[in-house]
Amino acid sequence: MKPPDKVLVTGGAGYIGSFTAQALVDAGYQVVVFDNLYQGHREAVPQAATFVQGDLADRSAIAALFDAHPDISAIMHFASYTLVGESMHKPFLYLRDNVSNAANLLEIAIARGVRRFILSSTANLFDLPVDQQGAPIREDCPVVPGSPYGESKYAIERMLGWLNRIYGLKYACLRYFNACGGTPDRGEDHEPETHLIPIVLQVALGQRPHVVIFGDDYPTPDGTCIRDYIHVEDLAQAHILAMEALDELGVRHYNLGNGQGYSVRQVIETARRVTGHPIPAVVGPRRAGDPAVLVASSEAIRRELGWTPRYASLEAIVRSAWAWHSRHPHGYRDRYAQGEQG
Ligand code: UDP
Repeated sequence: MKPPDKVLVTGGAGYIGSFTAQALVDAGYQVVVFDNLYQGHREAVPQAATFVQGDLADRSAIAALFDAHPDISAIMHFASYTLVGESMHKPFLYLRDNVSNAANLLEIAIARGVRRFILSSTANLFDLPVDQQGAPIREDCPVVPGSPYGESKYAIERMLGWLNRIYGLKYACLRYFNACGGTPDRGEDHEPETHLIPIVLQVALGQRPHVVIFGDDYPTPDGTCIRDYIHVEDLAQAHILAMEALDELGVRHYNLGNGQGYSVRQVIETARRVTGHPIPAVVGPRRAGDPAVLVASSEAIRRELGWTPRYASLEAIVRSAWAWHSRHPHGYRDRYAQGEQG
């Protein structure tokens, strides 16, 4: 019997990468995680995966990875700098490092015969002018990167286009909207934390006095920004579906969200219900670069691959995030202390 495909997951110790690595293990794949642990957590890597610590800036480390695992047949590429705000202060981490690290990986992988690649991309490709904001964003909407972060992902998307033409690389770019949620054993753990749902839950845990709402004067019903929150396990399933369909599909770009928008105030309200904590909120100034509304149309991946998010409601998503945060108030450090892994 043929052994299961071996999939390389770069950034597989990070938030979305580790969920996807776990989903691949659960689906019966062999998984190799390559991560420099800059933001990721060793404890987040599934126990059944092979872990290799290394940096994509180091070409000899990538070559050694493929020497040790010549049978890698597909790559899911999560490893990157991922913060919109940071990218406005440190643009070269994004415009240089994200792009050149992807080029290092792709050059060596293609030389070793890999022809299937899934890119972790972003809704930050769609910083549309104000008069175009609001309608669900389809894949054919104009790409207007909102930051050097989005620009770096777009550069990699375009690089992939050329590698398809030149080498026949099959690839999918998955543009996530707001990834969130968890399970009792796996969840979000960033240092520093910048995302709304974990911040709100840290208030419920008594780790912060209040949440600051970044602006309540947007042209939305309650004045706060509207986002499309999609559970990380649903994203993980989308990666597997896309990878399995690549031989047939060749090249795809998919926007991934629930297709329903929730305001910052609605997220806080939901977290109050889920946690039973009053979660004080104060209104602060707008955060630079935040569009008023970002909601995905995921009609394409639903139709073509039959992707159906299991966590359809914000309440279910926040509940799942709370299951993680309430059990691990200090994230993976708690899991380490409890002797758990993977
Ligand atoms: N937000 C907020 N207070 C916070 C963090 C986030 O009001 O402490 C808002 C942010 O302005 C955005 C939404 O919550 O409108 C989601 O932000 P997040 O950073 O979670 O994700 P992003 O939309 O930037 O990918």
